[in-house]
Amino acid sequence: MQNQKPKPRILTGDRPTGPLHLGHYVGTLANRVKLQDQYDCFFIIADLHTLTTAATKDKTSAIPDRVRGLVLDYLSIGIDPEKSVIYQQSRVPQVAYLATIFSNLISVPRAQRVPTLKEIMHDLHIQQPSLGLLNYPVLQAADILMVKANLVPVGKDQESHVEISREIARDFNKIFGEVFPIPKALIGDIPTLIGTDGQAKMSKSIGNCIYLSDDSDTVLQKVKTMYTDPNRIHPTDPGKVEGNPVFIYHDAFNDNKSEVADLKDRYQKGTVGDVEVKQKLAVAINKFLDPIRQTRQKFESKPDLIDDIITSGSQKAASQAQKTLDEVLQTMGIR
Ligand code: AMP
Repeated sequence: MQNQKPKPRILTGDRPTGPLHLGHYVGTLANRVKLQDQYDCFFIIADLHTLTTAATKDKTSAIPDRVRGLVLDYLSIGIDPEKSVIYQQSRVPQVAYLATIFSNLISVPRAQRVPTLKEIMHDLHIQQPSLGLLNYPVLQAADILMVKANLVPVGKDQESHVEISREIARDFNKIFGEVFPIPKALIGDIPTLIGTDGQAKMSKSIGNCIYLSDDSDTVLQKVKTMYTDPNRIHPTDPGKVEGNPVFIYHDAFNDNKSEVADLKDRYQKGTVGDVEVKQKLAVAINKFLDPIRQTRQKFESKPDLIDDIITSGSQKAASQAQKTLDEVLQTMGIR
């Protein structure tokens, strides 16, 4: 029998800080679903990463429920646990060991230059970062390299973190010996989806999200209050389509392309009102979310299955992590 070539690997995931939203979908989830047959996929629920901005008991004790919620989100969009490993980061302690080793391969000023650090500090009004927050990309490098991932499907905001993983992999290989592939970021079709407020990227912490688990009425209400062209007072005023969140969402989620083209045309001419544009957007988003809602319903009543997926996925990830850690320690000459 011929030996089958191993599939290349993917590592990506999410912090369990709340439910997944449309921004996650276009930034990274769509690529995960698309690539799960071609790649050996590891999807991490990065609970240790939540400590970097939420090290309080009320937040940490919410983690188990949020982890289950994320697994349900994954299943509802079509991630298949028979094909892909879904795991909880804190159940793979080897990752912290690897992060300790990697933290010696990066300088403090390099970690301080990562653009997301400034963004998080600004958004969450953090005066001084904790060592954990500074170390965020290093822990992420340990997640990625621990499974020897080749590809990391992420939103644009995470690109600079993948760059740190690449630098650490290169440096490790150069100093100690070839262990790691150099991972590449794969940015989604919409690198950063703007929020419904039109002011910042869609983000759980800002509250400008449409969640994959929102029901159709909630979607309609959120779309009705969406930010559009602020200079357009009357439906007869010619409006701006570029950069207008309502049309960004139409482009992303409305599969009726001729309807979108017609709405854009009439909007620019001032012959359609915001009400119609938004009403059609709500219909399109609900059409996109309906199959996700139906699949969610199938799994909602199976909490034991969700717990089993987390336990068995975490065992598989830990066994891979131990293999890599052993190889790392041997290559370094420590063992
Ligand atoms: P987080 O929820 O911050 O842990 O992000 C999980 C993944 O979703 C990362 O790959 C992010 O880059 C991606 N992501 C989060 N928000 C957005 C957004 N508004 N647009 C595109 N990608 C996003």
